[in-house]
Amino acid sequence: MIIVPEREIAGLVTAADCFAAVEKVFASMAKKSASNFPVVREAIGHADAIYGVKSGIDRVGPALGLKAGGFWPNNAGKGLMNHQSTIMLFDADTGQCRAVVGANLVTALRTAAASAISIKYLSRSDSKVLGMIGAGHQSMFQLRAALQQRAFVKVVGWNITPEALGRLEAVANEHGLPFEPVDLDTLSKEADVIVTITSSFAPILKAAQVRPGTHLACMGTDTKGKQEVESQLVADATVFTDEIGQAVTIGEAQHAIKEGLIEAADLTEIGAVINGDQPGRIRPDEITLFDGTGVALQDLAVATAAVDLAIARGVAVEVDL
Ligand code: NAD
Repeated sequence: MIIVPEREIAGLVTAADCFAAVEKVFASMAKKSASNFPVVREAIGHADAIYGVKSGIDRVGPALGLKAGGFWPNNAGKGLMNHQSTIMLFDADTGQCRAVVGANLVTALRTAAASAISIKYLSRSDSKVLGMIGAGHQSMFQLRAALQQRAFVKVVGWNITPEALGRLEAVANEHGLPFEPVDLDTLSKEADVIVTITSSFAPILKAAQVRPGTHLACMGTDTKGKQEVESQLVADATVFTDEIGQAVTIGEAQHAIKEGLIEAADLTEIGAVINGDQPGRIRPDEITLFDGTGVALQDLAVATAAVDLAIARGVAVEVDL
């Protein structure tokens, strides 16, 4: 069995590797050659932690495995990241454990790849201003990946605590772009593409604020009860997602579904757009919304790439199980 330690991931997989791996697995999901299994997500009654298991199979790869971990809110005081997770890959022919992969950076990279894919396929090609809502750990990865997809000339950002926006300003400036902290009205008036990446449980962005032609990548809502945008905005938009089953239960669409504003049949899997089986954006004035809930297969795809690269570069740790 192989271990790929967390410390090696940054030197192994690039954002481009992650984009390619996630794009391919989204396409496999839409062709039904890859499936995610039901998500386990529970408050464990210890350390205020939320623990979850996401698993799936890509029969084409093949890649079989799981990601386990979650959110430990008191970790910061111990010098650790609050989000902690580990991936296990199994041999799909024998069930033997093939690899254990540190998955903290993998999670950030595969989540950023998903929203970047949505920007590639759904945003207007003439998009110039990128709006960021949220300035936590994931936001920097989201911003870096989004900037690769369009010729953006400016980044505008909002966070509930504006002092956190400095980290986004630094990333924008690294890419030679100006950054402006703004209120939500200004952000939605200026931005052609908006990425939301917060842990909010109440709508931040209202339907009336969003201009025709905007693309939204809503990435923060990955749990029952979380919400980043008003349900009416989801109802007004053409909605795409990584997986419909997750979007209607733990994604941004859960609220519009519960309120009877939309049905599951109104959602399109982004993989079908990648495959060319469904159109993406049809009109320049359409509002498109990607509901990125985060699926196991994204993790398995990136972890598989990391294992292959670790073996090729001699940094995989081999152990007997
Ligand atoms: P973080 O704790 O580092 O940052 C949280 C962000 O949310 C901060 O910007 C914070 O100011 C903001 N926030 C918190 N409460 C808010 C509120 N009530 N209203 C508005 N903003 C609020 O977390 P992170 O690692 O950056 O993750 C952000 C979110 O993304 C989390 O909800 C996480 O579960 C989710 N996530 C989703 C995926 C996916 O695949 N979709 C993957 C990883 C993380």
